Amino acid sequence: MECLFCKIINREIPGDIVYEDDEVLAFNDLNPQAPTHILIIPKKHIATLNDIEESDLATIGRLQYTAAQIAKEKGFADEGYRVVMNCNDMGGQTVYHIHMHLMGGREFTWPAG
Ligand code: AMP
Ligand code: ZN
Repeated sequence: MECLFCKIINREIPGDIVYEDDEVLAFNDLNPQAPTHILIIPKKHIATLNDIEESDLATIGRLQYTAAQIAKEKGFADEGYRVVMNCNDMGGQTVYHIHMHLMGGREFTWPAG
């Protein structure tokens, strides 16, 4: 398996892991775009948002739930934060294992760039 994020899941390469359970893993982004920038991924390899199957829906919900839990722990849940998932080239996806970006600790503008 050549997937970078599967390698982090399998401890083949290091990740700065902040949360793990049976279904999801969360780790600090290598190139943070905010004071807190964490990636939350399913342990199941799913390449893009377009590849999500109906049987994955509980796991996908857990990504969002985990983002909110981490935001609460970090103390920026109430002030607000940004959650992003990029899909394919035009959406800015560079790693083809779906991941939720959780960014907090600064103010975000809209529309996103
Ligand atoms: P995206 O452009 O949405 O596919 O996001 C990929 C993200 O993965 C980027 O924010 C990168 O900084 C991040 N990234 C790439 N390699 C690693 C790594 N080994 N550990 C942590 N984050 C990574
Ligand atoms: Zn993968």
